[in-house]
Amino acid sequence: MTEPPARLAGGVGDADVVVALDVGGTGMKCALVSPDGRTVHSERHPTDAARGPDAVVDTILAVAEGLAGKARADGRNPVALGVAVPGIVDEARGVAVWSANIGFRDVPLRDLAVARLGLPTTLGHDVRVGGVAEARLGAGRGAGHVLFVAIGTGIAAAHVVDGSADVGAHGAAGEFGHILVRPNGPRCGCGRPGCLEAVASAAAVGRRYAELAGAPATAAEVAERAAAGEPLAARVWQDTVDALADGLATAQALFDVATVVVGGGLAQAGAQLLDPLRAALRERMTFHREPALVPAALGDEAGCLGAALLALDAVGVPTTVEKR
Ligand SMILES: [Zn+2]
Repeated sequence: MTEPPARLAGGVGDADVVVALDVGGTGMKCALVSPDGRTVHSERHPTDAARGPDAVVDTILAVAEGLAGKARADGRNPVALGVAVPGIVDEARGVAVWSANIGFRDVPLRDLAVARLGLPTTLGHDVRVGGVAEARLGAGRGAGHVLFVAIGTGIAAAHVVDGSADVGAHGAAGEFGHILVRPNGPRCGCGRPGCLEAVASAAAVGRRYAELAGAPATAAEVAERAAAGEPLAARVWQDTVDALADGLATAQALFDVATVVVGGGLAQAGAQLLDPLRAALRERMTFHREPALVPAALGDEAGCLGAALLALDAVGVPTTVEKR
C-alpha cells in the first residue's frame, strides 16, 4: 500500500489531477489537469468514428485508463475523469444521448467509465464545457454572466453564470445555431429554413460564396477576399455579420450577459469579424445593455479544461479557479 498523496488545508492535494477528454468527430484532445486549471500533460488521439460507436467508446476508456496510469506513474493522484462529447448530452444521467458526428445514441458513457476506471466521472457537452472554461479561465474571466459562442461547421453556445453552464431541461440548452434569423433563408441541417447556422456558420459562408461566385471557397478564403475588397466576398461577409448580430441581439434580450466570448473556426478572422459584429450588435440594442464582445482565449483546449473543471466540481474538489 502506498501512502495517499498529501493534501493541502483546503482539501486540494498538491498531486491531485483530473483526467480530461474532449471527444470530437475526428480527434480527441486528452489531458491531465491540476485543480488550478493547469494542463500538466496532454495527448491527442484520432477518434476514427467510422469504426462505430462501440469502438469509439472502447478507445475513450482505454485512453482515459492510460492517462490515469500515466498520472500515477508520475506520482500524481487522479481524482476524477471528465469527458466532453458533442451533440445532445444528458449530464445528470451521464448519457451521450445523440451525436451525429460520432454516431452515439444513448451511450451510458459515465457508467461505462466508472466501471472500467473506478474514478468518479462527469460527462459534459463539448461547447458547454468550453464555455465554462472560457468563463472561468479564459476570455470571460471575471464577467460573471458569459455567453460563449462557437462558430465552426455549426454554431452552438453556452450560457454560463458564475462558472456554471445552463444545461436545459432536456440537455439541449445553447442551440444558438438554430435561432431563426432568415425565415426564407437556406435550409438548415435540422430541416428548417433560415436557422442562424444555415446562414452564418463557417460551412454556410463557404457555401453561400460558392453559390454566388460559382467556385468553391472556404470561409477563411471568403474572409481574405472580403478584406482585399472583393465585392462579392464583402457582401457574403456582411450578410454573415448581420445574421450573427440578429442572433446575438436575441440572445442578449434573453440572457443580458456581461461578455460574449466568440470562438470556433470563424473567429480566427479576429477583428475582421468582431469589429463589424460589435457595430452591428450595437445598432440592434435598444434598452438592452451592450455586452463586451471578445475573442476566445483558450483555443481548442477549452473543451478539455472545461471537462476537467466540471469533474472537479462534481467530486467537490475545490478548484483554485474563481467562479467569477
Ligand atoms: Zn436549424
